[in-house]
Amino acid sequence: MTTITHHPDISTLMCCAAGSQPEAFAAVVASHLALCPECRAEVRHMQEIGVALFDKLEPVPVSCQPPVVAMRAGEADVGSSPADREAIADICKTGVPMPLAKHVGCCLHDVPWQTVAPGIATYTIPLSKGCCGTLKLVMVQPGIALPKHGHEGAELTLVLTGSYTDEIGTFRPGDVADLDEEVTHKPVACPRDGCVCLTASYREMPLAAKSPD
Ligand SMILES: [Zn+2]
Repeated sequence: MTTITHHPDISTLMCCAAGSQPEAFAAVVASHLALCPECRAEVRHMQEIGVALFDKLEPVPVSCQPPVVAMRAGEADVGSSPADREAIADICKTGVPMPLAKHVGCCLHDVPWQTVAPGIATYTIPLSKGCCGTLKLVMVQPGIALPKHGHEGAELTLVLTGSYTDEIGTFRPGDVADLDEEVTHKPVACPRDGCVCLTASYREMPLAAKSPD
């Protein structure tokens, strides 16, 4: 199994523990947690602190629809038993973390990809009505570079298969790039394996020059 070297920021994990992330971002974090025991332990610890604090509050009724992409920290809580470790090994083979498999299937080849530029295909995962942001699978063929781009708001990317390299470093399966508006980068997919990522963002990522409609 590949060692994970890039994790979400602590503030991102805190939002996850509090359940206050937009659905698209929660999906990326939950998928990372399914692969990363270190962040799972961190989020569990934060939740324990949160529960201790909440116990001191008066209960307030809430009415909210469960998210379509219902992936919260608890759902990614695998990895402690031998069976769980086996499941994680399977995830590494298929490239689809367990929380994501419910929504896109177990095989990335079966995803209804749409080509958006030479060597780049995407699939937009449906979110709950009115949810902000977008959640996409992005497949980049070997050696293909994305246009250099900045970010209007956060962008959270989890590598599922292959790898990519940008100004920050090389991101491999399980790694997360937790980017904000200060970062400008030009990711290039691995020349041998290409790259498939799960990306949450508030604005559409510029994957190619806009074609005339
Ligand atoms: Zn992690």
